[in-house]
Amino acid sequence: MYSEELFNESKKYFPGGVNSPVRAFKPYPFFVKSAGGSKITDVDEKTYIDYCLAYGPLILGHANPKVVREVSNQLTIGSAYGTPSENEIKLAKEIVDRIPSAEMLRFTNSGTEATMSAIRLARGFTGRNKIVKFEGAYHGAHDYVLVKSGSGAATLPDSLGIPEDTTKNTLSVPFNDEEALVGLIKEEGENIACIILEVVMGNVGCIEPKKGFLEFLRKITEENGIILIFDEVITGFRVARGGAQDYYNVTPDLTTLGKIVGGGLPMGAFCGKKEIMELIAPNGPVYHAGTFSGNPISVQAGISTLQQLDDKLYKDLERKGNFLRSNIKSIVDEQEYNVQPVGLASMFQIYFNPSEVYNYVDAQASDRRKFLRYFKSLLKEGVFIPPSQFECNFISSAHSMEDIQNTIDSIDLALEMAFKKRK
Ligand SMILES: *Cc1c(COP(=O)(O)O)cnc(C)c1O
Repeated sequence: MYSEELFNESKKYFPGGVNSPVRAFKPYPFFVKSAGGSKITDVDEKTYIDYCLAYGPLILGHANPKVVREVSNQLTIGSAYGTPSENEIKLAKEIVDRIPSAEMLRFTNSGTEATMSAIRLARGFTGRNKIVKFEGAYHGAHDYVLVKSGSGAATLPDSLGIPEDTTKNTLSVPFNDEEALVGLIKEEGENIACIILEVVMGNVGCIEPKKGFLEFLRKITEENGIILIFDEVITGFRVARGGAQDYYNVTPDLTTLGKIVGGGLPMGAFCGKKEIMELIAPNGPVYHAGTFSGNPISVQAGISTLQQLDDKLYKDLERKGNFLRSNIKSIVDEQEYNVQPVGLASMFQIYFNPSEVYNYVDAQASDRRKFLRYFKSLLKEGVFIPPSQFECNFISSAHSMEDIQNTIDSIDLALEMAFKKRK
């Protein structure tokens, strides 16, 4: 097995053999030879239907022809300028047109930088230091937010190397819990700069906000002079044309974007009300900078991608998502598996949990061993999902109904495998 050999060699150069912890799984992750559309092929010539999709960015699948063509053209006329170019405005217009809260924006190179900058901006704007996040939410790998974090951090202890002086200003409460937040704001309200949330928690699986929760957040932040930040790094351009704020019809003050916005290349953005965004340097006193921010390659990939994301595409994704989810539910009901199929639009997951999942603690109660048997069985069947109960699976526009049908058959088998060995 060539992947196995490469992984052993990789471990000599990279901690854990990988460049991001979520990619490591036992006995070894497959090494990719190539990818196209809905499929990813490893160096051992095995092809998988891909529902990891690089953890979310690839809404058009791998190597989308228009993206490849237009990015290739851009490469021939330069990859970084250190001075503005017109395409930045073009992409800005695509974003402002779609995202309800976006009046002005800044590009970054990752979602991590986007949330870091948005939080700094909220602190600068309000003159307050504390921030509130939800347990299990992942907002990137920087110090402010790596507290009770999701994604890879959900399976590991809290990171060392983060000063208490930093994290003492990060308060966390359970998702979907109005009472906890009311209590916290009563005590700390005038010190809180912002509340940041994943509108759909995609880094502990897939948890939707309860009905009325977002409206509650909007109201309580407004009443207390707190900036509301929607971290839409996953949901932006994913659950609807205008992201989760469009899907649920609640508009935050600031929004962070990533993943899809870069069309498969590294990029993020933060955007929001003009009145707040104008505080960014060189206009105002809040610093944000980046050598590659708004680089012409990522910007072109973003434009080439967003231009293809029309209502028809979202309808098609919704249809495929609904078909997949309803078939999973039929299997689960028929076989009386004690699991929770969840998801919306083109996101889905199965919690190996007898109870419904509304927050991090609920998610953590899932049976990870069963999940891993399910994951491995899917992999064997040629279906690739992220190797963790605490990630979400994605569908792209490149997935055919045949892909989806094959996947349903594989899930049927994988669930059987998951429940076979142990009761
Ligand atoms: C992936 C993710 C991030 C971090 O983005 P990177 O580009 O990996 O730095 C932040 N927030 C959410 C919700 C994410 O899913």
